[in-house]
Amino acid sequence: MHKTQLLIGEDWVDASAGATADTVDPASGEVVGVFADGTAADVDAAVAAARAGFESDAWQSLSPDARGKLLWKVAELIEENGQELAALETMDQGQPIFISSNVNVPLAAQVFRYYAGFATKIEGKVSPVSIPNQLIYQQRAPLGVCGLITPWNFPLAIAAWKLAPALATGNAAILKPAEQTPLSTVRLAEICREAGIPAGVVNLVTGGPEAGQALVAHQGVDMISFTGSTAVGQEIVKASARDLKRLGLELGGKAASIICDDADVDAAVTGNLQGALFNTGQACGAFTRFLVHRSRVDEFTSKLAAAADSLPIGPGRDPETFVGPLVSEEHLNRVAGYVASGRDQGAELVTGGERVGGDLERGFFYRPTVFAGVQNDMTIAQEEIFGPVLSVMPFDDMDEALSIANSTVYGLVGVVWTQDLRTAHTLPQRINAGTVFVNQLPLIDPGAPWGGLGLSGWGRELGAYSIDEFTETRSVFINLA
Ligand code: NAD
Repeated sequence: MHKTQLLIGEDWVDASAGATADTVDPASGEVVGVFADGTAADVDAAVAAARAGFESDAWQSLSPDARGKLLWKVAELIEENGQELAALETMDQGQPIFISSNVNVPLAAQVFRYYAGFATKIEGKVSPVSIPNQLIYQQRAPLGVCGLITPWNFPLAIAAWKLAPALATGNAAILKPAEQTPLSTVRLAEICREAGIPAGVVNLVTGGPEAGQALVAHQGVDMISFTGSTAVGQEIVKASARDLKRLGLELGGKAASIICDDADVDAAVTGNLQGALFNTGQACGAFTRFLVHRSRVDEFTSKLAAAADSLPIGPGRDPETFVGPLVSEEHLNRVAGYVASGRDQGAELVTGGERVGGDLERGFFYRPTVFAGVQNDMTIAQEEIFGPVLSVMPFDDMDEALSIANSTVYGLVGVVWTQDLRTAHTLPQRINAGTVFVNQLPLIDPGAPWGGLGLSGWGRELGAYSIDEFTETRSVFINLA
């Protein structure tokens, strides 16, 4: 049983009210950890510690090179502790071990290494102005104290892709992981201390929405970087209005995957299934709406359903598992509710549509579910399900496909399957999404920006975009006359 505390400055402490909460293994429903349930008072203490850490000589006097070395050390420690971290994530989140050990943990290390390199490359500019006798230049300044609020689907990787650029640019941070999956983020905070990051620069408040709200409302927090649901993102925008807090928002998605008449259907079935069911469909970039040219829709649907049925379902710790449990019973019920709405609204259930029983009854397992004959105004075609539910819709021509693909409030990801070079290059321009994948799975790389339009959020993370997210531009006008 894991028992974890908050990290406030250099101290590991219980929550001020002594409150704790449980975290559960979704494969068995058993409690596997007890974490400190932080309150507003703990957030106050964390903000004070982060301010002191930000202003400390130990942090301010560190050269960019030395800061980069610390980030590199964090990457090395993540890798050295990779097996432990992957096992922890799989136990807490339910994530199949092939994902936690081959994607989630390595990505966290890679992101720290990527931003370690950036610490020495944060450049300013000189403005070419018309006023005589002026030298006008800009420098990038850290924001100060950044609140990093993360979701439960890829806890470690998402914490890393906020924390690494926040530190590379010289900020102090307060991590606030999701209450369903705090364990790997607690370990990440420990690793940051082991790596030698000065006290107060990385703080951690575990807890639920109350801790997140306190962080957002706190006037000592200069910026909130949030990844999570659109509904909570909207609450954060409202709550930040008072002090116009700077926000980065990575929210929900409802990716459409357009399978053109010339697509390689077998490749499209394999790729789309993986894109849909990666992390059991609990991914913001999950492919969920399959728009298939009418001439190929029957072939695609039957092959997709057969392939979905053949995927191994089981506990994440089993290396054979492709479909793991959903993160919680509450989420399982939510997914089941969407499936019920699909049936009620007249979609044709081709396969799945039920909780898994037998040996897996105690966990939160749901069968991969394929619906055909889905209309675009059905709830399952419009709302983010965040589970293993796939909707197939036919189209007759490209304008119709684009109109369906773009008739969503989200704009995170789009997908195109074609063998025609022109379509591969022209269709992505017409899809309203921050990222379009052509003939492949959803991929993430530290060097490529990630983020969305519409209700998928504000801003971009990763690459040089995160340097913008975590810095302020300061202009200096020098009178040369
Ligand atoms: P969530 O919005 O319920 O919670 C996310 C975090 O916000 C948690 O740490 C939670 O405790 C905290 N929180 C809850 N209410 C809050 C409030 N009022 N103020 C401040 N913080 C609050 O999201 P979730 O269910 O953990 O994650 C799933 C969602 O995350 C999905 O919608 C998914 O699309 C989204 N997501 C988006 C991306 C992306 O890059 N766009 C990546 C991963 C997940």
